[in-house]
Amino acid sequence: MNARQVQQMFLCVAEKMVASEEFLTEIDNKIGDGDHGIGMAIGFKGVYQELENKTYTYVNEVFHAIGMTMLCVMGGASGVLFGTVFISGIVNYPEKKEFVLEDFANIYVKSLNALKKRGKAQVGDKTMIDALEPACLGLKKAAEEGKSLHEGFAYAAAEAKRGMEYTKECKARFGRAKYYGEKAIGLQDAGATSVYLIFQAMSDWVNE
Ligand code: ADP
Ligand code: MG
Ligand code: MG
Repeated sequence: MNARQVQQMFLCVAEKMVASEEFLTEIDNKIGDGDHGIGMAIGFKGVYQELENKTYTYVNEVFHAIGMTMLCVMGGASGVLFGTVFISGIVNYPEKKEFVLEDFANIYVKSLNALKKRGKAQVGDKTMIDALEPACLGLKKAAEEGKSLHEGFAYAAAEAKRGMEYTKECKARFGRAKYYGEKAIGLQDAGATSVYLIFQAMSDWVNE
């Protein structure tokens, strides 16, 4: 995928995330403070405006623009968390005009590791990591097996979905949900839901 295609893909992701505001708010209402949908909508509205009329040469620049925008406009915990998802993967990554599946796998795995280091959450803590880790490792596995970009993205989205569903079984160790203890069992995590929605929207774009 060239920079223009990645830009178009994330414009589509941004539209879908903005449209998911109510759904995400509903989830965060149950075991959080109900602002996750609002935060993501603000972040992705910003992303849409930032990407809309730009021309990028390198795919890396698209990721940089998305991450910086989220860091700047979202604020709060999830601004930093989602900013990290888009920025940290491309730090020191060679500039490329086209990304193949292996490049996406490389940068997302780097981002995952940076996020785990920063937020200290592991799989099973009922956070976005529960969806992000299987999605990123799914990209890596698909790339190693020589799968196509279409297959790799579809697989990553399916893995993110599985991770999102898994958060229903967990008690939270981070964020406000941790104060809900056992009461959070049966309810899915808002951040993991956003991660799933992002990967699903990416997959939909490349597979449509
Ligand atoms: P806030 O908690 O500030 O209201 P949001 O509601 O936007 O922010 O985001 C909450 C989400 O952030 C949670 O659903 C969870 O997935 C994610 N999260 C919280 N703490 C961490 C952490 N330490 N590491 C990774 N993700 C986290
Ligand atoms: Mg919240
Ligand atoms: Mg909050």
